[in-house]
Amino acid sequence: MVECDVEYEKDNIFAKILRKEIPNFTVYENDNILVMMDIMPMSRGHCLLLPKAPSRNLLDANDEVLGKILPAIKKVAKAVKKAMNADGIIIKQFNEDAAGQTVYHLHFHIIPAYRGEKLARHADRKEDNEILAARAKEIANYIEEID
Ligand code: 5GP
Repeated sequence: MVECDVEYEKDNIFAKILRKEIPNFTVYENDNILVMMDIMPMSRGHCLLLPKAPSRNLLDANDEVLGKILPAIKKVAKAVKKAMNADGIIIKQFNEDAAGQTVYHLHFHIIPAYRGEKLARHADRKEDNEILAARAKEIANYIEEID
């Protein structure tokens, strides 16, 4: 079994968002997950799906928590694709800094892809709040209930 030898940092930015200490553009929330807009999107409609259970990344995540994640990603991916009129969806997830992880609470990127458009660089430019708020609402309209 692969184990993570680094501890969960309870004051990482996503932990603060989950504790409602920092605002976010929520698309969907239930007891287990939060889906929010990435504030520095790689394309229009880039969302993040976070399990609420604390884990640094995939390597120390609880298997039961992970069991619910893939069906949730599927529902959000379908909603994002419809709402944003995207041509495809990319799912990304980084583990540790060498792999590109910058925030140490497990999260999955749900990134719409548009034919003929290149993705922006990872975490490069902050999107306008009004645009993020509008996209969160548009995507929320298409999300089915998630377990
Ligand atoms: P990672 O490299 O850890 O997979 O990606 C972290 C992501 O979180 C990046 O895409 C970055 O744009 C996004 N991000 C960083 N800070 C915040 C924040 O305060 N709120 C939200 N919603 N996203 C953030």
